[in-house]
Amino acid sequence: MLYKNSSDVKVLKFGGTSVGSVANIKRVKAIVADNEKKIVVLSAMSGTTNTLVEISEFLKLKQSKKALNLIEKLHNKYASVLDDLIVASELKQHTGNYINTVFDFLKKSTTANYTQLLHNKIVAQGELLSTHIFTNYLHQEGVNVRLLSALDFMRIDKQEEPDDFYIKQSLFRILNEALPADVYVTQGFICLDAFGNISNLQRGGSDYTATIIGAVTDADEVEIWTDIDGLHNNDPRFVEHTHAISNLSFDEAAELAYFGAKILHPQTVMPARKANIPVRLKNTMRPEALGTLITSNVSEEGIKAIAAKDRITAIKIKSARMLLAHGFLKKVFEIFEKYETAIDMITTSEIAVSLTIDDDKNLVAIAEELSKFSTVEIDTQQSIVCLVGNSIVKHKETHRLFKVLQDISVRMISYGGSNNNISLLVNTKDKTKALKRLHNYIFNLVTT
Ligand code: ADP
Ligand code: ASP
Ligand code: MG
Repeated sequence: MLYKNSSDVKVLKFGGTSVGSVANIKRVKAIVADNEKKIVVLSAMSGTTNTLVEISEFLKLKQSKKALNLIEKLHNKYASVLDDLIVASELKQHTGNYINTVFDFLKKSTTANYTQLLHNKIVAQGELLSTHIFTNYLHQEGVNVRLLSALDFMRIDKQEEPDDFYIKQSLFRILNEALPADVYVTQGFICLDAFGNISNLQRGGSDYTATIIGAVTDADEVEIWTDIDGLHNNDPRFVEHTHAISNLSFDEAAELAYFGAKILHPQTVMPARKANIPVRLKNTMRPEALGTLITSNVSEEGIKAIAAKDRITAIKIKSARMLLAHGFLKKVFEIFEKYETAIDMITTSEIAVSLTIDDDKNLVAIAEELSKFSTVEIDTQQSIVCLVGNSIVKHKETHRLFKVLQDISVRMISYGGSNNNISLLVNTKDKTKALKRLHNYIFNLVTT
């Protein structure tokens, strides 16, 4: 039985664009239908989760007409996907019934009381739709396929961390009970919370689903199929002439994902690193491209990539009397700990400590508590620009970087905290300029 000795499992995840049109769904079929056993994790069709979030926001504002309008448009889109993709009459009827059930639920939601749980149920529908449609399409094409409901095994604990023990036990039980198949399809992103309610792994979370499944099944490899040929050395949305990096270590990839490389959900690398499972990033539109391979191997020294993370808040905590006093930083950190708010960067001077957070949910309460023993200054709309590589702090050229940023106001620098990372905090309006300058200097060898 495959999963009792699962050394031959591969997990393949396809993102929104990869399943975003009938033509692309056909490409995905061509990639997965090779008679090898695999678990396929799908995102929602591109645009769907955004629309579902919008629908939910309208419901929160009690604007049900606007919500119904979006629901109808989305329903029409799925009706036309069904028409173009599935021709076998029984399968078409079956898939059409499923689509109708989803849209009946969405319509009914417009008269329900808005709650977080309702929101979670609404945003889960995208992955439920894509996986049902894709599974039935594979059936039609003669692939031996089974649909596994992620809600039967994917679960997070009270700290919102994957509950590995539960996931492994449940997934193995389901796989061993299910009829044998070549392709097992499941939903990315969605899960149950510690209380058994429907929840999710945050936006972009299908990548994370894939590595969590890869780790618990001890897969040979996790492949993340997307719309670009691997992890690029800078953000291609803001910088021209970027290129895919062929190899990255888990540490490098984790830093890049955490600090804004949108191609990977921030937590994606963690389960793979822990279980030492290679992660390969591939392009659904160009399967022949090599992509990026992420493993425990550490390759050459130097800066490999630049990424940026927006919506950062900088907090300066000033206290002339107390900064150097024993216990001051402990007091500061305890407040962030109390509000479960992670700190990304930190710098200190004689009279102040500056730090950054990306989750500003509890900012007001945090600032209030800090104000009891210090003066607090807050700057929003900051971006962390992060340079990632191997031994970059030791690298002899690294110090020259700062020359290229001469006319950009760098609010904070974190250098030396790890060998893999140098982070700079800039105002978001200067981000693109900083990314371009650094790119030209580091990768195009422009001298300063
Ligand atoms: P998917 O829907 O497949 O999950 P995403 O949109 O989440 O795809 O991620 C792929 C996109 O990430 C690319 O189209 C690209 O615009 C963006 N991106 C940002 N930074 C990088 C990077 N360093 N390398 C590659 N892609 C990046
Ligand atoms: N569909 C979800 C989103 O758009 C999850 C994902 O695509 O990874 O955020
Ligand atoms: Mg994504």
